[in-house]
Amino acid sequence: MGNNGSKVAAIVMQRIMEQLEAGVVPWHKPWKAGLAQNFVSGRPYTGINQLLLGSSDYELPYWLTWNQTDELNAQLKYTWPIHVRKGERHTKIVYMGKWKIDQENSKTGELEEKTLNLLRYYRVWNVDQIEGLHQHERIVQWTTQAGEFKPDKCCETTLKNYPKPQPTFKHAGSRACYNILDDLIKVPARHTFDTVSSYYATAFHEYGHSTGHKDRCNRDMGMMDEEYSFEELVAEICSAMLCAQCRIDNEREIKNTAAYIEHWKKHLVNDPRVLLKASRLAQQGFEYILEGKKPEVRDG
Ligand SMILES: [Zn+2]
Repeated sequence: MGNNGSKVAAIVMQRIMEQLEAGVVPWHKPWKAGLAQNFVSGRPYTGINQLLLGSSDYELPYWLTWNQTDELNAQLKYTWPIHVRKGERHTKIVYMGKWKIDQENSKTGELEEKTLNLLRYYRVWNVDQIEGLHQHERIVQWTTQAGEFKPDKCCETTLKNYPKPQPTFKHAGSRACYNILDDLIKVPARHTFDTVSSYYATAFHEYGHSTGHKDRCNRDMGMMDEEYSFEELVAEICSAMLCAQCRIDNEREIKNTAAYIEHWKKHLVNDPRVLLKASRLAQQGFEYILEGKKPEVRDG
């Protein structure tokens, strides 16, 4: 890896480390809906870029380069120029570029064309950081679809009545996560979910995590960076309980929960108490959300 490559790799690692240090696990519960994509081409970013952009704080998943704002200006000719708002910080993404060079063949002495792969980086801005795009059809469409989401009354009431102080809740990025240090929940925009119930099941899962906070049920959250950590099982069961409470159709979510439990089976064979313990802790979280009841003794 050349100099530039190590620099790019360092940027990526730094970003991941920052997120881990902030208590966010960037690859935690990836969500297919609302994939980060280029605003102009509509093409979703792939691999590491999805990870870098998907965990952002912006609700809309659209990103563009500085040059693309110029291109849009030339193309759309709006009365007011489209531009990155002053002081807005860029986000770096990486890209594998091809570089053609002529190289002498040591045996024949002839020049041969050789293609090198070079890791490079780009600066992009979220549409939210850009002035003048509100009338663009893509943004108008987003706003319209967002307005069409039909909230579930019971689920909304449940979340509204979550005991205070509540965790901060934000619609952002394309990944759902709970950040314990900031007591912050991030869930992708509501209308980007396939169904209303999958939105609430996801939100409930993250709210389930939030009950583990020391000021609430004070649960040992363990390592939240393992996809199938014990805490995941707790949050998943807690979500299933909340879905059931509101009678939302959560067949698919139950399947998810089952997948978790399936994975846990091998542990359960050795120690069937694991599931009992997870359910007990999930139940505590569930009761905390509904009644503000904290467990008397710290349990697990
Ligand atoms: Zn989780």
